[in-house]
Amino acid sequence: MRLIFIGPPGAGKGTQAARLVERYGIPHVSTGDMLRAAVKAGTEMGKVAEGYMTAGKLLPDEVVVGLVRERLKAPDATKGVLLDGFPRTVPQAEALDVMLTGEGISLDAVVLLEVPDDLIVSRIVGRRQDPETGEIYHLQFSPPPADILPRLVHRKDDTEEAVRTRLGSYHDQTAPIIPFYEAKGLVKRVDGVGNPDDVTARIIAALGR
Ligand code: ADP
Ligand code: ADP
Repeated sequence: MRLIFIGPPGAGKGTQAARLVERYGIPHVSTGDMLRAAVKAGTEMGKVAEGYMTAGKLLPDEVVVGLVRERLKAPDATKGVLLDGFPRTVPQAEALDVMLTGEGISLDAVVLLEVPDDLIVSRIVGRRQDPETGEIYHLQFSPPPADILPRLVHRKDDTEEAVRTRLGSYHDQTAPIIPFYEAKGLVKRVDGVGNPDDVTARIIAALGR
């Protein structure tokens, strides 16, 4: 199974991806997670990425495409993958198409998680992640156990200001990839509002397996 998750920041891509990769036995490839790991490790790529990420701006296509190209070569990604946060621009989608076509591989579906803009800011500002388990919480919508609260991480780019920039990039640069995949008949639109379990059930129903 090869899936792409598209949706605005805070749509629930990471939350839902964690559940689906378990169900389908495929790796979760999140460019955001890979870039945050590079920043933390202080690699050359991390140094380039940090400024863009903190400001909520997209990195140059060639940087991210190179990262994904390498990741997709790893043995665990040869049989299936869930791509989260990539592609995010039409040139990235085109580059992915060339990569997959070159290997004779096709995508099964592009899941578009739809959440209105007015719900996004509160989801993002309240987001916290457990660095030990990777679990994603929300201070109101998915409250963490009190004992782990002190170790939870609040992302630097999860501010109201950065999220407005990220939402702008989503509408201007990422939304145009929807018609690109619609033309291929791959897009499954899923309502991302409501209980996370209900959203998972909607995605599974849309995928039909
Ligand atoms: P994305 O990966 O699309 O940016 P996340 O999965 O990190 O989104 O979710 C963003 C925030 O919204 C997190 O704090 C998460 O706990 C919360 N969240 C995820 N799904 C839902 C939902 N269905 N309803 C309410 N809050 C949600
Ligand atoms: P979210 O789903 O909450 O919007 P991500 O974790 O997917 O955020 O991405 C965080 C940041 O990493 C983005 O704001 C951007 O700076 C960078 N990034 C991640 N994926 C890409 C991509 N495909 N192209 C360009 N920049 C990216």
